[in-house]
This record gives sequence, C-alpha cells and structure tokens, in this order.
Amino acid sequence: MQTWRWDPAQVLPVAITCVLVSAVTLEMFYLILTASGSAQIPLLVVTLYLLFNVVGNMVKFVQSNSTIKGVFLEHGNLGQGWLYCYSCQTHIPPRCHHCYDCNVCVLRRDHHCTLLGKCVGYSNYRYFFCALLHGLLALLLATILNAEIFMELLHQGISLHSLLLLLLPWMMFITGQVSGSAFIFAFVADTCVVGFLFCFAFLILHCFILYRGSTTKEWFGGHKRDYDVGWKKNARNFLGERWYLVWLSPWTRSRLTGDGVNFEPRDLSSTVSSKNVNQ
Ligand SMILES: [Zn+2]
Ligand SMILES: [Zn+2]
Repeated sequence: MQTWRWDPAQVLPVAITCVLVSAVTLEMFYLILTASGSAQIPLLVVTLYLLFNVVGNMVKFVQSNSTIKGVFLEHGNLGQGWLYCYSCQTHIPPRCHHCYDCNVCVLRRDHHCTLLGKCVGYSNYRYFFCALLHGLLALLLATILNAEIFMELLHQGISLHSLLLLLLPWMMFITGQVSGSAFIFAFVADTCVVGFLFCFAFLILHCFILYRGSTTKEWFGGHKRDYDVGWKKNARNFLGERWYLVWLSPWTRSRLTGDGVNFEPRDLSSTVSSKNVNQ
C-alpha cells in the first residue's frame, strides 16, 4: 500500500470537523467542571476516553489508503466481476468503485465521507465504524449534560425568544437578538442533538449491513448478500482478525483479512440445497 500524503482537498472538511469536535469538547468540559456533585472526575475520564477514540480513529482513517494507488492488480488474471475504469484507465477488481470526489478507484468502496473528505473503503472501514460508535456515545453524553440547561429553560417557561434561539441560533445572532455566548451555547447544543441523531441512524445502518457483509453501495445497489459469509466472518473481513477488540482503541492491532482485491463470495449451494429440501 502507498504511504499516506496530505491531500489538499481534505483540508476544508477536516478543518470544519475539527472545529465542531473542539466546540463540543469545550462545552462538555465547561458543563462538567461548572457542575456541582461528585461525578466530575468519572465524567472527565469518560469524556477524555471517548475523545481519544474519536480523534484517534479519525487520524487513522485519514492516514489509511484504500485506493488502488500502489496496489498490484493482476491484469493477466481477470476473473468474474472485474471491470474497466475509464477514468483511472485500468482494470479494477470486484467491489472496487471509482469516486469522483477522490478522483480515484477505491477498494471495496463503501461511500465518500464528507466530514473527513475521503472514501470509506477496505483499509479504513474499521476506523470509520469506531469513530462513529464513539462519536455517538460522546454526543449522547453531551446531550445529557446539555439537558440540564434545557430543563432550566423549560422551568422558566418557553418563550418565542428561547425557542428561536434553539432552533435558529444563526439567525438570532446575525440579527443581534442574542449575545455571542448564548449563540455559541445554542449552536453547540444543536450540533450535539443533530449529530447524535445522525450518528445513531448511520450506526444502525452500518451494524445492519456489516452483519450481512455488504457495503452501503452494494446494499442500495441490490447486491445485498453477494459476499455474506456469516456474521463472524463478515466482522473479521471488515474490522480485522481481532474485530471484537477494535472498539477499545484505534491502536489495537487487528490485521485485515484478505488483500482488498479478492473476496470470498457467498456460498450459494447451501441456500439452493435448503430451498430444495423445503420444496
Ligand atoms: Zn477509477
Ligand atoms: Zn471519495
């Protein structure tokens, strides 16, 4: 695989994601440190652990290379499912697809991640999945911490002003209706709720398609179970040999099975024979 180089097209999405992660983290620290009670230390430890996993997995994701660049593709031995990419001017293996944002073919391409400006593919799926998992937990914790302030607002009675602040913070700030600090609180609180819902829906989808051994593209393209080899093997194929430990840390060793070019197809004979028995 080719060594990682910084791609200028990734600078803006990564910078925006860094600003959002930093804003949520700062608000979480502020809410924990200003709260009364004895739960400060455990909450700080949990927040730091989740932050370590979110940022670590994002860094490893960006550094991983799932593209065909530097990969030896056996031109003389093209099997079933190989296609020709006119943009890259080369034959590409099954499950490999061209990304017009990355401008290159990506091995076992899942989708293009807008937040990190790079495709999710064979080499970095594990980091994407774990960043999503820990991101969901961090946003859930942030939403619970923010909930105390929401409850205070509710006790004081909902006014049109507070409702507009929570729903349209940008508009309230631009029109000079709220102070800068109130805008920042409302904006970050909104980011936590929207981010949590977004991560929740995405994680459910990915748990489901991972269980069936398919990519997002295959799922929506009607090839849902072409590579379904049982949930345990599917987890190994996507998350590596130690798939059950990858959630612990981005640096947990979990060697990927296969080479990203050849994939074990689903054993259709067992399905056919079980159908025949039923008939
Ligand atoms: Zn291509
Ligand atoms: Zn891409």
